[in-house]
Formats: sequence, structure tokens, C-alpha cells
Amino acid sequence: MSIQRLPDILVNQIAAGEVVERPSSVVKELIENAIDAGATQVQISINDGGKKLIQIKDDGKGISSEQIGLALERHATSKISTLSELENVNSLGFRGEALPSIASISRFKISSIVASQEHAWQMTCFGGNMGELEPSALQKGTLIEVRDLFYNTPARRKFLKTERTEFNHIDELVKRIALSRFDIAFELIKDGKTVRTMPAALSEIQKEKRIGLLCGPNFVEQSLRVELESSDMKLYGWVGKPTYSRSQADQQYFFINGRMIKDRLIGHAVRQAYRDVLYHGRFSAFVLYLDMNPQSVDVNVHPAKSEVRFRESSRVHDFLFGGLHKALAVTSPGTSSTTEFFDQQSNEGGMQNGATSTPEQSSNQAYTNNLWHQQKEMGLHVSERPQSSYTGFDNKPSPELSLDALAQLKPTQEFNEPVDGSQGPPLGFAIAQLHGIYILAQNSSGLIIVDMHAAHERITYERLKTQYWGQNLQQQKLLVPVVVNVSEKEANLAESKEDSIKKLGFDIDRMSTHELLVRAVPVIFTQSDIQALVMDLLAEWCTHSDSRKIEESTNELFSTMACHGSVRANRLLSIPEMNALLRDMEQTERSDQCNHGRPTWVHMNMKSLDSLFLRGR
Ligand code: ADP
Ligand code: MG
Repeated sequence: MSIQRLPDILVNQIAAGEVVERPSSVVKELIENAIDAGATQVQISINDGGKKLIQIKDDGKGISSEQIGLALERHATSKISTLSELENVNSLGFRGEALPSIASISRFKISSIVASQEHAWQMTCFGGNMGELEPSALQKGTLIEVRDLFYNTPARRKFLKTERTEFNHIDELVKRIALSRFDIAFELIKDGKTVRTMPAALSEIQKEKRIGLLCGPNFVEQSLRVELESSDMKLYGWVGKPTYSRSQADQQYFFINGRMIKDRLIGHAVRQAYRDVLYHGRFSAFVLYLDMNPQSVDVNVHPAKSEVRFRESSRVHDFLFGGLHKALAVTSPGTSSTTEFFDQQSNEGGMQNGATSTPEQSSNQAYTNNLWHQQKEMGLHVSERPQSSYTGFDNKPSPELSLDALAQLKPTQEFNEPVDGSQGPPLGFAIAQLHGIYILAQNSSGLIIVDMHAAHERITYERLKTQYWGQNLQQQKLLVPVVVNVSEKEANLAESKEDSIKKLGFDIDRMSTHELLVRAVPVIFTQSDIQALVMDLLAEWCTHSDSRKIEESTNELFSTMACHGSVRANRLLSIPEMNALLRDMEQTERSDQCNHGRPTWVHMNMKSLDSLFLRGR
């Protein structure tokens, strides 16, 4: 066969292969055109999962009669005209191929009106063959009808799934687009029945309502508001708290400059940010918007424009990871809105703002300040940021609040009553220990139950990280060095990585093929089972050392270590020790979840307790 130019219709049908995968792709292109035309209302009507009819009506600026034919031609667009405009593109479309592609594989009709013309005009196009321009009765904007998708490409029609599956794809797409533009009203009609109506959402409350409609009412309640800005990037939106995790990655929405994106780099940055706090095998939920200079991101790398390429990808990654990591760090008691009590607080104290609010603004903090102030007046030594040593692991004599001093305060009696009308510390004061596992505490609104091991594990972990990364890991020489039996591989590792081990706060010598001598450990671990700790540490390290630099897995090592440094079940704690643990939780970042993402505490308010006993009915 000799080389020949393909006919236009075939070219368009080939292009349609990339642009139109299924009915929902048509819906995407047509809604995006409506948005680009400045529509404030978009109505989407679907019959038989889009196989029979896809109809999109908008109130945008329309297309003039002279241009309707042009809009259906390949590479015809009103959105860019030069390369520099391509590099600065602000519109969702710019390739000029959606309409001709769709029209080449369907029975297509477009009606449109512009303000300067007396009435609307319409044109049909069956299988890419354009008909005549005719007058139409449309009053405003543009109406596009796509019937019998793939009717002339039977091989592709066979790939269509059931009506229900195709409609679900469309519904998910409409959801995504509705999340990208709160200022536009959307209506989705399925076989003649309205199934979604979303009025324009301008205020923050309306936006949250729309998100609630699309992501479920719990999402907004169980999420943190994010707002971050760097010199040329802005990130905002909602991130689900780690305890609001999901079994699937089905609630992850990311938009760059208003465009919905699925991107590996972004997925990675977000996963990293959650890694510390999410229960293993679970997925986070988020609705996030990244605005950046269009020049820094190439959107012309994918026919459906659902992927992008960043000019400086590591900077984007670091910005996202850093910002989200920090935002998620505020999940500690008193900064989150886990319970009714905290909800009240958050409305006053601005805690809903999550990352943007400073703890000093909250009334909890005001109370705490007050408490420490009182203690000062009572002649007790208190530090600026109270930290106790309830575990006994901290061998350094603490100049800070001692356990005895705390005990003298008889907290459950004296501090039950709110000081100056405020509510008391978020986790209240300990009453008892239950079966060696749980701490029961009372706060101003009810009962708090704390999983003491999980909570302490998080505290130890965060402390290790802070000390290590602050190059302030305190080491303690052991009075009697401890011999540890390990595998030869592990012993070799310990020997060859002496420096890294020192940095982690250990001093370990090799004694023989299988024996190590531990001379010093981080202060946090002086009371722990050192043999078990070192064995676990080296085992964990061995699994990482082959492929990665050990420094990269430090946090995972700390997570393993934290378990050893934490109070075990069945250890009896005194009331002051328990109170000190509660106070430490309040001071510790991310302490709403343990290192594995399980919750560390729950709250039952008086109302729910009363209802257990049918009180007040
Ligand atoms: P692109 O969106 O990449 O420009 P399309 O083939 O999707 O290419 O559309 C071609 C042109 O038709 C657009 O550039 C725009 O000028 C016009 N157009 C398409 N849909 C609409 C609409 N709903 N309202 C107004 N103009 C539209
Ligand atoms: Mg388009």
C-alpha cells in the first residue's frame, strides 16, 4: 500500500480513541467547555448510562453562527493562538479536538446563541458529516446533544459496560468537577430524573455543605482545614483526620489550577505525609487544591489532560509533603474536634482552622496557662512547657514539675471546677486504671478513656524524632553493659554502621561473631528490655539496609523502638503518673493516634452516659 493522507473523519475517529474512552469522557470534555465559556449553571442529562444520550446545557457565552462549523473542526480553538499562550494556559481546554472527535463517533447536535445575535443556531453532525446551519429556539448559552455514542465504531461500542457502571463513572466525574468549581451550579439528570442538584456554593458553609453532599457528611467533620502558601504556590482544602481512614483510595481529590489531576508525585507526597499516622493498609481521604503559576506546570502531556508534569517536581513534592505533614501534626487532644466538647471549643478557638491556628489562641491553653500559674503561686517549680517524667525512664533529675508536686495538687478534687469559667485540660484528670490497659479520666464534659500503651508509644516516638532531628538525643551509659545475641549479618551491620548507631544514641561494640555489647542507650530506654530492643532494632534495620540508606528509615526504626520505650500493659501507674501521661498527650503532636494509626483515646460525654441509664427520659 502506498502512503496516503487519512481522511479527516478517520483522523478524528483516531483522535477520539484517545480523548473518548467511555461516555464519562464525553461528559468531561463538554462540561469543561461549558466552564471555559464562563457558565454559572451546567445541566447534565444522561440516558441509558450515556450510551443513548448525553446532553449538556450551559449558560455560558455561546458560539456565534459563523463559528459553529469551525468549532467542529479539528485543531480549531478559541483558547490559545501562540506557544506562549499554551505555556500560560488558564482554560481547561486548548487542544481543539474534543468536539470534532466526539462528533465523529456519535450523532451530534450543537445549538448555541451569543448575546449579539437575535436567535440561536444549531447544526447536526452525524459520524463526522456536518449538516446545515439552522435557526434554533435555545434562549441562552450552548446545548450539546451526543446520541448513540460509538454507533459507527462497533468494535468500541462492545467495550461499553452496563448502564449502571457507565452512569457511575459519569456520576463520579460530575462529583469531581463539582468539587473543582464551587461557584458553578450543577444538576445531574438520569433518565429524566434529577439525581443531584448543587446550587452555587460561595460561602465557606455552602462549600462545606457541597463537600458533605459529595464526600459524605462525616468527611468535613472528620477533617482538618489546610491553608498554606509559599512564594509561588498555594495549597488549601480539607484533609481527613488519620482516624477517618478508608479501605479504598476512593475519596482522594486533587486539583491543580482548577483541573482534576491524578498524579504519582502528588499521590506519593500525600502518602508520605500520612505515613506516620495512618493505620497500615488504610487510605487517607482529602479534597485539596493547589494553585500555582501555569508556567511551572505542563498540562499538555496527556490527551485527556488528567496528568501533568511539573517543571520543579521535587519542590512541589516538598511543599505538599511538608505542609500536610505539619497540618496532620495538630491531631492531639485539644486541637482536634473529636468530641462535642472539643467542637464547642473549636468554634470559639479557631481550632477548625487546624494548621493555621496557634495553640495559644485556644481556651484550653488559657486554662493550662492558668493552671501552671497557680502552681507557681503555690511555690512549685514549673517549666515553660511542662513535661513530666512519669515513666521513670528519664534518669536525669528533672528540675521541672515532679510527680510529688503533682500529687500534692490533688487534681481530681481541686481542678475539677473550671478555673475562670474555662473547661479544664482536654483530657481531664485520671480517676483510675482499668485492667492495666486503660486510664479512666474525668474532664469537664464526661469520661475519657485512654489506651495507655498506644498513647505512650506515640509520645515516645515523637520525642525520639524531635530529639534525634534536633540533634539532641540524650544518651545514658549503662552501669552494667548488656550482651545481646544476634545473627552474624546483624552483627556485621552493627559493626559497619557504628556511626549511624551512635547517632541513634547507642554505643555498641562487637564481642564475637554473634555477640554485641551494648554500653549505652538513649535515655528514654534505660528502663526497657535492652536485649529485646537492640534485637528488634537490628532486625528492622537489616530489612531496610539493603535497598535504602539507613537514615531514610530512621522514623520507622523509631517507631519500632518506641514500642519498647513505652509502658506495657499491666504496669500499674499511680494517679500522678497517669495525669502526667495525659498532660504529655496534650502536648504531643499527632497524639490522637498511636504510631500505627489506631486511636489513643475516646470520650464519652455525660449525655451519652446518661442515655445508657435512660436518665432524664
Ligand atoms: P478546546 O476546548 O480545546 O478549545 P473543543 O473542541 O472542546 O476544543 O471546542 C472547540 C471550541 O468551541 C472552543 O475553543 C470554544 O471556542 C468553542 N466551544 C465549545 N464548547 C463551547 C461551549 N459550551 N460554549 C461556548 N463555546 C464553546
Ligand atoms: Mg474542549
